[in-house]
Amino acid sequence: MNKHDQDFLKQQNRLTVFQIIKKEQPVSRASIAKRTGMSATTISRIISEFIEERLVQETEEQTSTGRGRKSTLVRLRDHAILSIGVELDQSQVLVGIVDVLGHIVCRCCFSRTTEDDADATMTSISVHINELIEQHGIDRTRIVGIGVGLPGIIDIDSGTVQFSVQLGWKNVNLTTRLEELTGFKTVVDNELKLKALAEQRNGSAYGSERTVLLGFGNGVGSALILQGEIYRGATNSAGEIGHTTMDPDGMICDCGKAGCLQTYITIPSLLAEASKAHPVRNIEELFKARAEGKRWACYLIDRALAYMAITINNVATTYNPDSIILSGEFLDKFPEVYEEIIDLCYTRYIWEPIRDSFTIVTSELHEDGVLIGSGLAAQDRFFILH
Ligand SMILES: [Zn+2]
Repeated sequence: MNKHDQDFLKQQNRLTVFQIIKKEQPVSRASIAKRTGMSATTISRIISEFIEERLVQETEEQTSTGRGRKSTLVRLRDHAILSIGVELDQSQVLVGIVDVLGHIVCRCCFSRTTEDDADATMTSISVHINELIEQHGIDRTRIVGIGVGLPGIIDIDSGTVQFSVQLGWKNVNLTTRLEELTGFKTVVDNELKLKALAEQRNGSAYGSERTVLLGFGNGVGSALILQGEIYRGATNSAGEIGHTTMDPDGMICDCGKAGCLQTYITIPSLLAEASKAHPVRNIEELFKARAEGKRWACYLIDRALAYMAITINNVATTYNPDSIILSGEFLDKFPEVYEEIIDLCYTRYIWEPIRDSFTIVTSELHEDGVLIGSGLAAQDRFFILH
């Protein structure tokens, strides 16, 4: 075996051991050896390296090896690998530090106005990142990078927001400036894709092989995670179902077409429609009017729920997933509609041959999903175990 092959094998072995510790911790050296088929000497050497690199630590816990001997367990060191997650929205920005297991170590939140341009927003983000690091005594050298999630179409290779209706941005590059400001490598992606990644790694679709996340709220969209990877399509626009045509004679959408799905279910569309009958300031008022039996409010919400069930059927028939995760402001604010949607799905809209082939679940991570997903995406891209 030449030197190059030896180095490659060594690196693979390290990665295998690291993944097992991450997944099964706390775990004994003997158990890792058994799982991998590597020799006890190899495992001990790799773990000594990890301990020296401050990635892994020995725990107080011990396990019996069965011959009356005790063996020490190892686990990942807290805060050994960290990343920064950022969720960028129209009026609010969340910044948090995420560990290798996808737990939020600390976080903060600040508001932005529509007048804040991209540069002002990035400056605020970098100020808040520095504050978090200082306040919580975080070791900067353990931070592998930043992940930013936002609504819009993103070119992830260049880190450019090609288009975001919510932020009002067009062709704005985020990575170059954020890297300049913070010194950390940065990756930018669509928020729903990151949320789906987080739910698949740490939330309601844990371990799922093919899951679709649907987001119903101020916008509507979907994201598909196939065998642990985000499915992007040719231009990272896969899942933009808000602009699928439901009725060619329908209402005009902000994209200029008629009858897009989003004209039936997003909160702004519902409020705009409702206001033709009665002035409604927010979605809570619309739900209140529905509870009071106001015909226009019942009609609009019932129709929105029906379109949500139709969307579930459409993505289920398109992708044949094993699970569908429902998320977004609609369900976060009014969890009681979940049962109504499920009922509509199974009594009316799901195509019979696939009705038992997938589960419909709600988001577990709720408003933390994008933050966690952004942090994990940064680790996926920038953490390299040499
Ligand atoms: Zn549209």
